[in-house]
Amino acid sequence: NLKNILITGGAGFIGSHICLNFLEQGFNLYIADSFLNSSKEVFNRLKNILDISNNYDVKKINVFEGDIRNYKFLENIFLEASNKNEAIDGVIHLAGLKSVFESTLDPTYYWDVNVNGSINLLKVMMANNCKTILFSSSATVYGNSGEIPFKESNLINPINPYGETKATIEKILNNIFNSDSKSWRICVLRYFNPIGAHPSGMIGENPNGTPENIFPLILQVASGLRKKLFVFGNDWPTQDGTCERDYIHVVDLAQAHIKAMQYLLKAKNCNLTLNVGKGLSTSVLDLLKTFEKVNNVKINFEFTSKRDGDIPISFADTSLSFKILNWKPKYNIEDMCK
Ligand code: NAD
Repeated sequence: NLKNILITGGAGFIGSHICLNFLEQGFNLYIADSFLNSSKEVFNRLKNILDISNNYDVKKINVFEGDIRNYKFLENIFLEASNKNEAIDGVIHLAGLKSVFESTLDPTYYWDVNVNGSINLLKVMMANNCKTILFSSSATVYGNSGEIPFKESNLINPINPYGETKATIEKILNNIFNSDSKSWRICVLRYFNPIGAHPSGMIGENPNGTPENIFPLILQVASGLRKKLFVFGNDWPTQDGTCERDYIHVVDLAQAHIKAMQYLLKAKNCNLTLNVGKGLSTSVLDLLKTFEKVNNVKINFEFTSKRDGDIPISFADTSLSFKILNWKPKYNIEDMCK
């Protein structure tokens, strides 16, 4: 029962790990990516990893270069798939822009790519009677919504344009479900802080341009590309004064997608929203200490002023996702740093 899945943003950090897991599970993949923040090389890397485990069928991955805001581009993917008798059964929608800071500088760009891109994708899906979607949302939708750990039922209160775009796409998905609840299968995954890489070291987080999130910055300091890491604030109301986040290994996150897609493909209809994290909070200083210890390197850092839009503590209440997906992250912070 080979299932055909379209993955937008499949060449990116999270997408590439998802592709690997889905290929290993025998799914047939269609990838849509503009390579704005990724490289085609990733597909050679996936092939290498799968060659080593003797598990690769080159026909199972079809890569399309283009922009999700382009209707014809997406329509053509659905057409090619159905011409091959491989009509798309479900979509994993990761493509988008993800920098909080950049979103404050250029909000219209963020709304255009994230929201218009998603609307476009949903229109093409509807035109092709494909009504199964897993959407990559973010813990940023909670903003400063109070109660911690964040529960899915918490107030949605994003405090930056990036978070606003994610919350808006969630709303659109809810509207669509309400308009045709008998046939849609929707799962929104609110990621917390994915870090780490596949143990082969052949794929990982390698963004184009200057990264904004902590882990690629740590890696750049470790590899000598950058002199030091700036830690934003040391007087937050946390145990050691630095921000605390819920880090999750990207391989665990990818596995959650397999579980969620299997859940959707079995469901008659559903509209789920799930946190995906480990449910633990780790401070920036603890993350740095662990990274230094397990990799035997020194990470130079300097405290600097707090960033607008940051919050002191963010971690997930994971009870719903662990229960519904029958899944739990396996890796700890040491594994993520290694
Ligand atoms: P990424 O930048 O590595 O991957 C996104 C991919 O989408 C890239 O390959 C990029 O080239 C592609 N893309 C961007 N704009 C596009 C467009 N208009 N058309 C087609 N392709 C386009 O990011 P990631 O870390 O893998 O994140 C994937 C998704 O997960 C994003 O939607 C992001 O908002 C969400 N997310 C990420 C994190 C995180 O910390 N990494 C946390 C929460 C949510």
